[in-house]
Amino acid sequence: MRLSRYFLPILRETPKEAEIVSHRLMLRAGMIRQEAAGLYAFLPLGLRVLNKVNAIIREEQNRSGAIELLMPTIQSADLWRESGRYEAYGKEMLRIKDRHERDMLYGPTNEEMITEIFRGYVRSYKDLPLNLYHIQWKFRDEVRPRFGVMRSREFLMKDAYSFDLDQAGARHSYNKMFVAYLRTFARMGLKAIPMRADTGPIGGDLSHEFIILASTGESEVFSHADYLDFGIPGADTDFDDIPGLQATVDKWTSLYAATSEMHDEAAFDAVPADKKMSARGIEVGHIFYFGTKYSKPMGAKVMGPDGQEHEVHMGSYGIGPSRLLAAIIEASHDENGIIWPEAVAPFDVALLNLKAGDAATDEACGRLYRELTAGGRDVLYDDRDERPGAKFATADLIGIPWQLVVGPKGLAEGQVELKNRATGARETLPLDSVAARLTKGA
Ligand code: ATP
Ligand code: MG
Repeated sequence: MRLSRYFLPILRETPKEAEIVSHRLMLRAGMIRQEAAGLYAFLPLGLRVLNKVNAIIREEQNRSGAIELLMPTIQSADLWRESGRYEAYGKEMLRIKDRHERDMLYGPTNEEMITEIFRGYVRSYKDLPLNLYHIQWKFRDEVRPRFGVMRSREFLMKDAYSFDLDQAGARHSYNKMFVAYLRTFARMGLKAIPMRADTGPIGGDLSHEFIILASTGESEVFSHADYLDFGIPGADTDFDDIPGLQATVDKWTSLYAATSEMHDEAAFDAVPADKKMSARGIEVGHIFYFGTKYSKPMGAKVMGPDGQEHEVHMGSYGIGPSRLLAAIIEASHDENGIIWPEAVAPFDVALLNLKAGDAATDEACGRLYRELTAGGRDVLYDDRDERPGAKFATADLIGIPWQLVVGPKGLAEGQVELKNRATGARETLPLDSVAARLTKGA
Protein backbone atom coordinates (compact mmCIF):
# COMPACT_ATOMS: atom_id res chain seq x y z
CA MET A 1 0.00 0.00 0.00
CA ARG A 2 1.29 3.44 -0.97
CA LEU A 3 0.69 5.88 1.86
CA SER A 4 0.00 8.67 -0.65
CA ARG A 5 -3.02 6.68 -1.87
CA TYR A 6 -4.10 5.25 1.49
CA PHE A 7 -6.66 6.56 3.97
CA LEU A 8 -4.73 7.13 7.18
CA PRO A 9 -6.12 10.18 8.99
CA ILE A 10 -3.38 10.79 11.57
CA LEU A 11 -4.15 13.34 14.28
CA ARG A 12 -1.36 15.67 15.35
CA GLU A 13 -3.08 16.79 18.53
CA THR A 14 -3.84 14.45 21.38
CA PRO A 15 -7.64 14.22 21.56
CA LYS A 16 -8.85 15.64 24.87
CA GLU A 17 -11.71 13.21 25.38
CA ALA A 18 -9.41 10.17 25.49
CA GLU A 19 -8.48 9.23 29.06
CA ILE A 20 -6.31 6.18 28.49
CA VAL A 21 -3.31 5.62 26.27
CA SER A 22 -4.87 3.02 23.96
CA HIS A 23 -7.81 5.30 23.21
CA ARG A 24 -5.50 8.25 22.54
CA LEU A 25 -3.25 6.20 20.28
CA MET A 26 -6.11 4.58 18.36
CA LEU A 27 -7.57 8.02 17.60
CA ARG A 28 -4.19 9.57 16.76
CA ALA A 29 -3.18 6.64 14.54
CA GLY A 30 -6.41 6.92 12.56
CA MET A 31 -7.71 3.50 13.58
CA ILE A 32 -11.17 4.39 14.85
CA ARG A 33 -13.66 7.22 14.79
CA GLN A 34 -16.47 7.80 17.23
CA GLU A 35 -19.87 8.08 15.52
CA ALA A 36 -21.97 8.41 18.67
CA ALA A 37 -21.44 7.54 22.34
CA GLY A 38 -19.93 4.05 22.42
CA LEU A 39 -20.24 3.56 18.65
CA TYR A 40 -17.09 3.44 16.56
CA ALA A 41 -16.25 3.17 12.91
CA PHE A 42 -13.13 1.10 12.26
CA LEU A 43 -10.99 3.03 9.81
CA PRO A 44 -8.73 1.07 7.40
CA LEU A 45 -5.76 0.71 9.77
CA GLY A 46 -7.99 -0.36 12.67
CA LEU A 47 -9.86 -2.81 10.48
CA ARG A 48 -6.60 -4.44 9.41
CA VAL A 49 -5.70 -5.17 13.02
CA LEU A 50 -9.22 -6.34 13.84
CA ASN A 51 -9.06 -8.79 10.93
CA LYS A 52 -5.70 -10.15 12.13
CA VAL A 53 -7.05 -10.62 15.65
CA ASN A 54 -10.12 -12.39 14.27
CA ALA A 55 -7.95 -14.66 12.13
CA ILE A 56 -5.98 -15.84 15.17
CA ILE A 57 -9.17 -16.40 17.17
CA ARG A 58 -10.69 -18.33 14.28
CA GLU A 59 -7.61 -20.55 13.82
CA GLU A 60 -7.51 -21.47 17.48
CA GLN A 61 -11.27 -22.05 17.73
CA ASN A 62 -11.12 -24.31 14.68
CA ARG A 63 -8.05 -26.12 16.00
CA SER A 64 -9.94 -26.98 19.19
CA GLY A 65 -12.81 -28.45 17.16
CA ALA A 66 -15.29 -25.57 17.35
CA ILE A 67 -17.31 -24.87 14.20
CA GLU A 68 -18.03 -21.41 12.82
CA LEU A 69 -21.48 -20.19 11.78
CA LEU A 70 -23.03 -16.73 11.71
CA MET A 71 -26.17 -15.64 13.50
CA PRO A 72 -27.97 -12.32 12.94
CA THR A 73 -27.47 -9.27 15.14
CA ILE A 74 -31.23 -8.67 15.45
CA GLN A 75 -33.22 -11.21 17.44
CA SER A 76 -36.85 -11.79 18.23
CA ALA A 77 -38.01 -10.96 21.76
CA ASP A 78 -40.11 -14.15 21.83
CA LEU A 79 -36.96 -16.24 21.90
CA TRP A 80 -35.84 -14.39 25.01
CA ARG A 81 -39.26 -14.77 26.59
CA GLU A 82 -38.73 -18.54 26.43
CA SER A 83 -35.64 -18.36 28.61
CA GLY A 84 -37.13 -15.68 30.84
CA ARG A 85 -34.32 -13.26 30.07
CA TYR A 86 -36.34 -10.71 28.05
CA GLU A 87 -37.63 -9.01 31.18
CA ALA A 88 -34.63 -9.88 33.32
CA TYR A 89 -31.93 -8.41 31.08
CA GLY A 90 -32.68 -4.80 31.93
CA LYS A 91 -31.59 -1.59 30.30
CA GLU A 92 -28.41 -2.91 28.69
CA MET A 93 -30.63 -4.49 26.04
CA LEU A 94 -31.57 -2.36 23.06
CA ARG A 95 -35.22 -3.14 22.37
CA ILE A 96 -36.73 -2.29 19.01
CA LYS A 97 -40.01 -2.78 17.17
CA ASP A 98 -40.32 -3.73 13.53
CA ARG A 99 -43.00 -2.30 11.18
CA HIS A 100 -45.48 -4.93 12.37
CA GLU A 101 -45.01 -3.80 15.95
CA ARG A 102 -43.19 -7.03 16.80
CA ASP A 103 -40.71 -6.82 19.67
CA MET A 104 -37.16 -7.28 18.49
CA LEU A 105 -33.77 -6.63 20.05
CA TYR A 106 -30.18 -6.10 19.06
CA GLY A 107 -28.43 -9.15 20.48
CA PRO A 108 -26.23 -8.59 23.54
CA THR A 109 -25.33 -12.32 23.44
CA ASN A 110 -26.68 -15.46 21.73
CA GLU A 111 -27.43 -18.28 24.19
CA GLU A 112 -31.14 -18.32 23.30
CA MET A 113 -30.60 -18.27 19.56
CA ILE A 114 -27.96 -21.00 19.52
CA THR A 115 -30.18 -23.16 21.75
CA GLU A 116 -33.02 -22.63 19.27
CA ILE A 117 -30.78 -23.70 16.38
CA PHE A 118 -29.56 -26.72 18.32
CA ARG A 119 -33.01 -27.98 19.27
CA GLY A 120 -34.15 -27.59 15.66
CA TYR A 121 -31.69 -30.24 14.44
CA VAL A 122 -29.95 -32.30 17.08
CA ARG A 123 -31.76 -35.30 18.54
CA SER A 124 -29.12 -37.82 19.56
CA TYR A 125 -26.11 -37.99 21.87
CA LYS A 126 -24.25 -39.39 18.85
CA ASP A 127 -24.11 -35.85 17.42
CA LEU A 128 -22.36 -34.59 20.56
CA PRO A 129 -20.13 -33.00 21.60
CA LEU A 130 -20.82 -29.92 19.52
CA ASN A 131 -19.33 -26.44 19.81
CA LEU A 132 -20.64 -23.68 17.53
CA TYR A 133 -19.24 -20.17 17.42
CA HIS A 134 -19.52 -16.93 15.55
CA ILE A 135 -17.77 -13.58 15.43
CA GLN A 136 -20.53 -11.00 15.38
CA TRP A 137 -21.38 -7.49 16.59
CA LYS A 138 -23.19 -7.15 19.88
CA PHE A 139 -24.95 -4.19 21.42
CA ARG A 140 -25.11 -3.51 25.14
CA ASP A 141 -26.35 -0.15 26.29
CA GLU A 142 -23.57 0.21 28.85
CA VAL A 143 -24.19 2.73 31.64
CA ARG A 144 -20.74 4.20 31.09
CA PRO A 145 -19.33 3.53 27.65
CA ARG A 146 -15.73 4.75 27.85
CA PHE A 147 -12.12 4.25 26.88
CA GLY A 148 -12.96 3.95 23.19
CA VAL A 149 -13.42 0.38 22.00
CA MET A 150 -12.41 -0.93 25.43
CA ARG A 151 -15.96 -0.47 26.67
CA SER A 152 -18.18 0.48 23.79
CA ARG A 153 -21.89 -0.08 23.25
CA GLU A 154 -21.55 -1.85 19.92
CA PHE A 155 -18.60 -4.23 20.02
CA LEU A 156 -17.40 -7.35 18.30
CA MET A 157 -17.55 -10.65 20.15
CA LYS A 158 -16.45 -14.16 19.40
CA ASP A 159 -18.98 -16.26 21.24
CA ALA A 160 -18.90 -20.04 21.27
CA TYR A 161 -21.49 -22.40 22.73
CA SER A 162 -20.85 -26.02 23.66
CA PHE A 163 -23.38 -28.85 23.92
CA ASP A 164 -22.77 -32.10 25.77
CA LEU A 165 -24.75 -35.04 27.06
CA ASP A 166 -23.59 -34.68 30.64
CA GLN A 167 -21.44 -32.69 32.98
CA ALA A 168 -18.29 -34.75 32.41
CA GLY A 169 -18.54 -34.08 28.70
CA ALA A 170 -19.19 -30.40 29.35
CA ARG A 171 -16.05 -30.20 31.43
CA HIS A 172 -13.96 -31.50 28.56
CA SER A 173 -15.61 -28.97 26.23
CA TYR A 174 -14.77 -26.29 28.78
CA ASN A 175 -11.16 -27.45 28.96
CA LYS A 176 -10.86 -27.29 25.17
CA MET A 177 -11.88 -23.64 25.21
CA PHE A 178 -9.61 -22.96 28.19
CA VAL A 179 -6.59 -24.25 26.28
CA ALA A 180 -7.67 -22.56 23.02
CA TYR A 181 -7.84 -19.26 24.92
CA LEU A 182 -4.35 -19.70 26.37
CA ARG A 183 -3.03 -20.16 22.84
CA THR A 184 -5.12 -17.36 21.33
CA PHE A 185 -3.95 -14.62 23.69
CA ALA A 186 -0.33 -15.80 23.68
CA ARG A 187 -0.26 -15.59 19.89
CA MET A 188 -1.28 -11.94 20.17
CA GLY A 189 1.70 -11.29 22.42
CA LEU A 190 -0.44 -11.08 25.56
CA LYS A 191 0.03 -12.71 28.93
CA ALA A 192 -3.54 -13.53 29.89
CA ILE A 193 -4.16 -15.14 33.27
CA PRO A 194 -7.29 -17.27 33.77
CA MET A 195 -8.90 -16.08 36.98
CA ARG A 196 -11.75 -17.69 38.86
CA ALA A 197 -14.97 -15.92 38.16
CA ASP A 198 -18.39 -15.93 39.74
CA THR A 199 -20.62 -18.85 38.75
CA GLY A 200 -23.75 -17.41 40.40
CA PRO A 201 -26.60 -19.86 41.00
CA ILE A 202 -24.93 -22.46 38.73
CA GLY A 203 -22.16 -23.09 41.26
CA GLY A 204 -19.03 -25.11 40.66
CA ASP A 205 -15.63 -23.92 39.54
CA LEU A 206 -16.17 -23.75 35.79
CA SER A 207 -16.00 -20.05 35.13
CA HIS A 208 -12.83 -18.16 34.32
CA GLU A 209 -12.14 -14.67 33.14
CA PHE A 210 -8.97 -14.25 31.09
CA ILE A 211 -7.32 -11.10 32.33
CA ILE A 212 -4.33 -9.16 31.13
CA LEU A 213 -2.58 -6.89 33.57
CA ALA A 214 -2.65 -3.17 32.80
CA SER A 215 -2.70 -0.15 35.09
CA THR A 216 -5.74 1.19 33.21
CA GLY A 217 -7.76 -2.02 33.61
CA GLU A 218 -11.25 -1.78 35.08
CA SER A 219 -10.97 -4.91 37.23
CA GLU A 220 -9.02 -5.25 40.44
CA VAL A 221 -7.18 -8.58 40.41
CA PHE A 222 -5.04 -10.69 42.71
CA SER A 223 -2.70 -13.32 41.37
CA HIS A 224 0.36 -15.46 41.88
CA ALA A 225 3.19 -14.00 39.77
CA ASP A 226 4.37 -17.37 38.46
CA TYR A 227 1.49 -17.47 35.98
CA LEU A 228 3.36 -14.87 33.95
CA ASP A 229 6.08 -17.45 33.22
CA PHE A 230 3.92 -20.51 32.58
CA GLY A 231 4.44 -22.24 29.24
CA ILE A 232 1.69 -22.14 26.62
CA PRO A 233 0.31 -25.44 25.18
CA GLY A 234 1.73 -26.13 21.73
CA ALA A 235 0.06 -26.04 18.33
CA ASP A 236 0.24 -29.85 18.34
CA THR A 237 -2.06 -30.11 21.39
CA ASP A 238 -4.41 -33.08 21.06
CA PHE A 239 -7.82 -31.66 21.95
CA ASP A 240 -9.32 -35.16 22.19
CA ASP A 241 -6.88 -36.11 24.95
CA ILE A 242 -9.21 -35.78 27.95
CA PRO A 243 -6.67 -36.36 30.76
CA GLY A 244 -4.02 -34.34 28.89
CA LEU A 245 -6.23 -31.25 28.65
CA GLN A 246 -7.37 -31.67 32.23
CA ALA A 247 -3.73 -31.71 33.35
CA THR A 248 -3.09 -28.43 31.50
CA VAL A 249 -6.15 -26.81 33.07
CA ASP A 250 -5.18 -28.15 36.51
CA LYS A 251 -1.75 -26.59 36.15
CA TRP A 252 -3.17 -23.26 35.04
CA THR A 253 -5.58 -23.21 37.99
CA SER A 254 -3.14 -24.53 40.61
CA LEU A 255 -2.04 -21.12 41.88
CA TYR A 256 -4.08 -18.26 43.25
CA ALA A 257 -5.73 -15.92 40.73
CA ALA A 258 -9.03 -14.11 41.25
CA THR A 259 -10.83 -10.89 40.43
CA SER A 260 -12.11 -8.75 43.29
CA GLU A 261 -15.59 -10.37 43.20
CA MET A 262 -14.03 -13.77 43.91
CA HIS A 263 -11.15 -12.57 46.05
CA ASP A 264 -10.36 -14.65 49.11
CA GLU A 265 -8.05 -12.67 51.39
CA ALA A 266 -6.99 -15.74 53.40
CA ALA A 267 -6.05 -17.77 50.33
CA PHE A 268 -4.12 -14.82 48.88
CA ASP A 269 -2.24 -14.47 52.20
CA ALA A 270 -0.85 -17.95 51.65
CA VAL A 271 0.94 -16.77 48.47
CA PRO A 272 4.61 -15.99 49.23
CA ALA A 273 5.13 -12.25 49.60
CA ASP A 274 7.50 -11.95 46.62
CA LYS A 275 4.96 -13.72 44.40
CA LYS A 276 1.92 -11.65 45.34
CA MET A 277 0.55 -9.52 42.53
CA SER A 278 -2.33 -7.19 43.22
CA ALA A 279 -2.97 -5.17 40.13
CA ARG A 280 -5.50 -3.86 37.67
CA GLY A 281 -6.60 -6.01 34.78
CA ILE A 282 -8.54 -6.02 31.53
CA GLU A 283 -10.99 -8.85 30.88
CA VAL A 284 -10.38 -10.06 27.34
CA GLY A 285 -12.26 -13.35 27.55
CA HIS A 286 -14.70 -15.24 29.71
CA ILE A 287 -15.60 -18.93 29.70
CA PHE A 288 -18.54 -20.29 31.59
CA TYR A 289 -20.31 -23.62 32.14
CA PHE A 290 -23.98 -23.15 32.93
CA GLY A 291 -25.42 -26.65 32.69
CA THR A 292 -29.06 -26.83 31.66
CA LYS A 293 -29.92 -23.17 32.33
CA TYR A 294 -31.14 -22.66 28.75
CA SER A 295 -31.72 -26.21 27.55
CA LYS A 296 -34.26 -26.83 30.30
CA PRO A 297 -36.68 -23.91 29.71
CA MET A 298 -36.14 -24.09 25.94
CA GLY A 299 -36.49 -27.86 25.62
CA ALA A 300 -33.12 -28.70 24.06
CA LYS A 301 -32.88 -32.45 24.63
CA VAL A 302 -31.11 -35.41 23.09
CA MET A 303 -31.66 -39.14 23.29
CA GLY A 304 -28.94 -40.69 25.45
CA PRO A 305 -27.32 -44.14 25.13
CA ASP A 306 -29.75 -45.22 27.89
CA GLY A 307 -32.73 -44.57 25.61
CA GLN A 308 -33.82 -41.64 27.80
CA GLU A 309 -34.09 -37.97 26.87
CA HIS A 310 -31.52 -35.66 28.46
CA GLU A 311 -31.41 -31.89 28.62
CA VAL A 312 -28.05 -30.91 27.17
CA HIS A 313 -25.30 -29.36 29.25
CA MET A 314 -24.06 -26.10 27.82
CA GLY A 315 -21.26 -23.61 28.21
CA SER A 316 -20.53 -20.27 26.58
CA TYR A 317 -17.19 -18.77 25.76
CA GLY A 318 -16.62 -15.12 24.83
CA ILE A 319 -13.71 -13.08 23.55
CA GLY A 320 -13.88 -9.37 22.70
CA PRO A 321 -11.83 -8.78 19.52
CA SER A 322 -12.55 -5.04 19.42
CA ARG A 323 -11.61 -4.66 23.09
CA LEU A 324 -8.47 -6.69 22.36
CA LEU A 325 -7.15 -3.98 20.03
CA ALA A 326 -7.15 -1.55 22.93
CA ALA A 327 -5.83 -4.17 25.36
CA ILE A 328 -2.89 -5.02 23.12
CA ILE A 329 -1.98 -1.33 22.87
CA GLU A 330 -2.23 -0.90 26.65
CA ALA A 331 0.25 -3.76 26.94
CA SER A 332 2.55 -2.65 24.12
CA HIS A 333 3.38 1.01 23.45
CA ASP A 334 5.93 3.67 24.31
CA GLU A 335 6.01 7.47 24.32
CA ASN A 336 6.21 7.53 20.51
CA GLY A 337 3.22 5.33 19.81
CA ILE A 338 1.97 1.79 19.35
CA ILE A 339 4.30 -1.23 19.20
CA TRP A 340 2.31 -3.95 17.42
CA PRO A 341 3.29 -7.57 18.05
CA GLU A 342 4.09 -8.97 14.60
CA ALA A 343 1.14 -11.38 14.61
CA VAL A 344 -1.47 -8.61 14.70
CA ALA A 345 0.36 -5.70 13.07
CA PRO A 346 -1.63 -3.88 10.36
CA PHE A 347 1.45 -4.00 8.10
CA ASP A 348 4.67 -5.94 8.53
CA VAL A 349 7.03 -3.34 7.11
CA ALA A 350 6.97 0.46 6.84
CA LEU A 351 9.10 1.38 3.84
CA LEU A 352 10.30 4.97 4.27
CA ASN A 353 11.51 6.80 1.21
CA LEU A 354 13.46 9.70 2.72
CA LYS A 355 13.63 11.60 -0.55
CA ALA A 356 10.49 10.89 -2.53
CA GLY A 357 10.93 12.23 -6.05
CA ASP A 358 14.62 11.34 -6.18
CA ALA A 359 15.16 8.90 -9.05
CA ALA A 360 17.50 6.61 -7.10
CA THR A 361 15.47 6.32 -3.86
CA ASP A 362 12.21 5.99 -5.83
CA GLU A 363 13.69 3.19 -7.85
CA ALA A 364 15.15 1.35 -4.88
CA CYS A 365 11.89 1.67 -2.91
CA GLY A 366 9.85 0.48 -5.87
CA ARG A 367 12.04 -2.59 -6.13
CA LEU A 368 11.94 -3.33 -2.38
CA TYR A 369 8.18 -2.87 -2.36
CA ARG A 370 7.72 -5.40 -5.16
CA GLU A 371 10.15 -7.92 -3.67
CA LEU A 372 8.70 -7.78 -0.18
CA THR A 373 5.12 -7.92 -1.40
CA ALA A 374 5.95 -10.87 -3.63
CA GLY A 375 7.50 -12.52 -0.56
CA GLY A 376 4.18 -12.30 1.28
CA ARG A 377 4.86 -9.19 3.36
CA ASP A 378 2.32 -6.42 3.90
CA VAL A 379 4.21 -3.22 3.17
CA LEU A 380 3.11 0.33 3.86
CA TYR A 381 5.22 2.45 1.52
CA ASP A 382 5.64 6.03 2.71
CA ASP A 383 6.10 7.71 -0.66
CA ARG A 384 4.77 11.09 0.50
CA ASP A 385 6.64 14.30 -0.11
CA GLU A 386 7.32 14.87 3.59
CA ARG A 387 10.34 15.54 5.78
CA PRO A 388 12.12 12.43 7.14
CA GLY A 389 11.17 13.43 10.70
CA ALA A 390 7.47 13.29 9.85
CA LYS A 391 7.89 9.87 8.27
CA PHE A 392 9.73 8.46 11.28
CA ALA A 393 7.08 9.89 13.60
CA THR A 394 4.23 8.36 11.60
CA ALA A 395 5.90 4.96 11.43
CA ASP A 396 6.57 5.02 15.18
CA LEU A 397 3.03 6.17 15.98
CA ILE A 398 1.27 3.47 13.98
CA GLY A 399 3.67 0.88 15.34
CA ILE A 400 4.68 -1.17 12.28
CA PRO A 401 7.18 -3.82 13.53
CA TRP A 402 9.88 -3.11 10.92
CA GLN A 403 10.91 0.21 9.45
CA LEU A 404 12.98 0.05 6.30
CA VAL A 405 14.67 3.38 5.71
CA VAL A 406 15.88 4.28 2.24
CA GLY A 407 17.87 7.53 1.95
CA PRO A 408 20.15 8.91 -0.75
CA LYS A 409 23.31 8.72 1.38
CA GLY A 410 23.10 5.05 2.26
CA LEU A 411 21.83 4.15 -1.16
CA ALA A 412 24.94 5.66 -2.76
CA GLU A 413 26.78 2.84 -0.98
CA GLY A 414 24.09 0.30 -1.85
CA GLN A 415 22.75 0.26 1.71
CA VAL A 416 19.49 0.74 3.58
CA GLU A 417 18.67 0.82 7.27
CA LEU A 418 16.36 -1.56 9.10
CA LYS A 419 14.86 -0.54 12.43
CA ASN A 420 12.99 -2.77 14.82
CA ARG A 421 10.12 -0.78 16.34
CA ALA A 422 10.00 -2.81 19.56
CA THR A 423 13.70 -2.79 20.47
CA GLY A 424 14.81 0.28 18.56
CA ALA A 425 17.73 -1.78 17.22
CA ARG A 426 19.05 -0.61 13.85
CA GLU A 427 21.09 -2.47 11.31
CA THR A 428 22.54 -1.50 7.99
CA LEU A 429 21.86 -3.93 5.17
CA PRO A 430 22.97 -4.20 1.56
CA LEU A 431 19.98 -3.44 -0.64
CA ASP A 432 20.21 -6.90 -2.22
CA SER A 433 19.80 -8.75 1.06
CA VAL A 434 16.69 -6.98 2.39
CA ALA A 435 14.08 -9.17 0.76
CA ALA A 436 15.71 -12.36 1.99
CA ARG A 437 16.11 -10.91 5.49
CA LEU A 438 12.49 -9.79 5.82
CA THR A 439 10.68 -12.59 4.05
CA LYS A 440 12.37 -15.57 5.67
CA GLY A 441 9.72 -17.62 7.34
CA ALA A 442 6.93 -15.52 5.83
P1 ATP B 1 -17.42 -6.68 31.43
O1 ATP B 1 -17.39 -7.24 32.83
O2 ATP B 1 -16.12 -6.05 31.00
O3 ATP B 1 -18.62 -5.82 31.19
P2 ATP B 1 -18.82 -8.99 30.55
O4 ATP B 1 -18.63 -9.87 31.70
O5 ATP B 1 -20.09 -8.25 30.41
O6 ATP B 1 -17.61 -7.94 30.47
P3 ATP B 1 -19.05 -11.12 28.66
O7 ATP B 1 -20.53 -11.08 28.65
O8 ATP B 1 -18.38 -12.28 29.29
O9 ATP B 1 -18.47 -9.76 29.21
O10 ATP B 1 -18.54 -10.93 27.15
C1 ATP B 1 -17.44 -11.62 26.59
C2 ATP B 1 -16.33 -10.66 26.18
O11 ATP B 1 -16.82 -9.58 25.39
C3 ATP B 1 -15.65 -9.98 27.34
O12 ATP B 1 -14.66 -10.80 27.91
C4 ATP B 1 -15.04 -8.75 26.68
O13 ATP B 1 -13.79 -9.10 26.07
C5 ATP B 1 -16.04 -8.42 25.60
N1 ATP B 1 -16.91 -7.30 26.01
C6 ATP B 1 -17.93 -7.33 26.88
N2 ATP B 1 -18.51 -6.12 27.00
C7 ATP B 1 -17.82 -5.30 26.17
C8 ATP B 1 -17.94 -3.91 25.82
N3 ATP B 1 -18.88 -3.14 26.35
N4 ATP B 1 -17.06 -3.39 24.93
C9 ATP B 1 -16.10 -4.17 24.37
N5 ATP B 1 -15.95 -5.47 24.65
C10 ATP B 1 -16.80 -6.05 25.53
MG1 MG C 1 -20.53 -6.32 30.80
